[in-house]
Amino acid sequence: MAYWVRNVPDTTEEKPDCGCESWLDHWKRNSRSITTLECMAIGCRENDRAYPKGAHVFVRGDIRPHIVPLCAAHNHPENTEEFEVSAAASPVLAQILPRCPKSGRA
Ligand SMILES: [Zn+2]
Ligand SMILES: [Zn+2]
Repeated sequence: MAYWVRNVPDTTEEKPDCGCESWLDHWKRNSRSITTLECMAIGCRENDRAYPKGAHVFVRGDIRPHIVPLCAAHNHPENTEEFEVSAAASPVLAQILPRCPKSGRA
């Protein structure tokens, strides 16, 4: 199952407070995805698609910000259009989760 997502505005400078080194690190720790790490937008052809960052998105039907790996073009806070990401995107909540260093359970 793919996911429909849209960017969360104004998150470019935000750093995780869960102890993870970056939001991408946060995604790697907490997602169960074993996919090749690349931009998860379906059909992405950007040159930097193999070097995604952990992007804040709203998943359709959920008001809480989630993290998915996206290239710079798809991780664009001014882009408010919904787009589709693959099932492998496995969105994780942008908050302290059990596998984060500060969870106390890592
Ligand atoms: Zn984390
Ligand atoms: Zn992309």
